[in-house]
Amino acid sequence: MGTTYQERSMTIPETHPEHKEYWEAAAEGKLLVKQCDSCGEFHYYPRVLCPFCMSDKTNWIEAKGTGSIYTYSVMRRGVPYAIAFVELDEGPRMMTNIVDCDLDTVRINQRVKVVFKQSGDQGNQGPYIPCFTPVEG
Ligand SMILES: [Zn+2]
Repeated sequence: MGTTYQERSMTIPETHPEHKEYWEAAAEGKLLVKQCDSCGEFHYYPRVLCPFCMSDKTNWIEAKGTGSIYTYSVMRRGVPYAIAFVELDEGPRMMTNIVDCDLDTVRINQRVKVVFKQSGDQGNQGPYIPCFTPVEG
């Protein structure tokens, strides 16, 4: 008996004007990260200033949307769900949910890809949130 992922309503995130492009891309199923022009590093969550060198020359880049699970935890109070830090292939780690799988099969270093789930619930729908689901290989 596994722990099948069930849809649950996700909290609507606070959105800021400087992230408008990010949320618009998310609605189209694209995950954006920021890359710094000065030092070349990628970062997430997107900031105006590069966290590595404080340059303000940062650009939105569409991430491949693939990565691996760095660490995770399955919450079992009420509807079970898994939160995780996923390390993107571009380098940054993001806190996220692991979805659409048997939560008992989630493992560290497992390969995952991004899927988007709409936050909020019926009548009060928020932006699409990047979540991850395991992939073969
Ligand atoms: Zn930089």
